[in-house]
Amino acid sequence: MPKILISNDDGVHAPGIQALAKALDQVGEVTVLAPERNWSAAGHPKTMHKPLRVKPVTWPDGRTVYASNGAPSDCVALGIMGALGDDPFDLVVSGINAGHNLGTDVFYSGTVAAAMEANIHGVPAIAVSLGSVHEDESVDQEEALALAGQVAARLAHTVLEKGLPSHVLLNVNVPNLPPERLRGAQVTRLGRRIYRDVLIRREDPWGRPYFWIGGEMPTGIPEDGSDVGAVENGHVSVTPVGIDLTEYDFMDVLRAWGVEESLVPA
Ligand code: MN
Repeated sequence: MPKILISNDDGVHAPGIQALAKALDQVGEVTVLAPERNWSAAGHPKTMHKPLRVKPVTWPDGRTVYASNGAPSDCVALGIMGALGDDPFDLVVSGINAGHNLGTDVFYSGTVAAAMEANIHGVPAIAVSLGSVHEDESVDQEEALALAGQVAARLAHTVLEKGLPSHVLLNVNVPNLPPERLRGAQVTRLGRRIYRDVLIRREDPWGRPYFWIGGEMPTGIPEDGSDVGAVENGHVSVTPVGIDLTEYDFMDVLRAWGVEESLVPA
């Protein structure tokens, strides 16, 4: 039976990771190692300045899982490097995140970072996110999570059978819609997010300024073929994300600028 490591960024007690574990029980032997608190939008830390702890925790369904004081990326590194035993994992699945991770969200997302960490260690990985509740408040959230779990389980099965290139992860977004309004799955590219953050400046009791960056939920440009467009139209979006960020076409532009000849004094 394949061994599957599960993590997330919403914390080990989030409903999403419990639904994911339940769904993936059908696909392999599941181990859960996740952060003890919420790390949403914490990106991809590598904790180097303090000890990492791993402790067993019992879920309401009686399952023993593992919680760490580290980030989602730390949890995946801990699991793959043997903190819970030497057997290698065949697949890492991260999620189910509360809220989509679309377009440039992948740079902020701890959910996607956990999958990237698996890639860095050469283990195939899938990140799974479910649209936020406000999309349609009539949706039963337990059912929505179960459905996203089934999507993850089917894709996990396929990945375990076919394999993935070592530098590619799959970023999956499931719209939070009633099952009858959910359309099929689409393979997509990363789309364009529009963040509606504002900078709020306030003063502390001593008159020193402090700041909040935040605002309304991001929107996006729903282009055809993009992840933003797919979920907007009620499709499950599956985006292959490469961890090689090199912009290959621009290498020749830089050479044409004479960068290779001109930067270092002769
Ligand atoms: Mn999150």
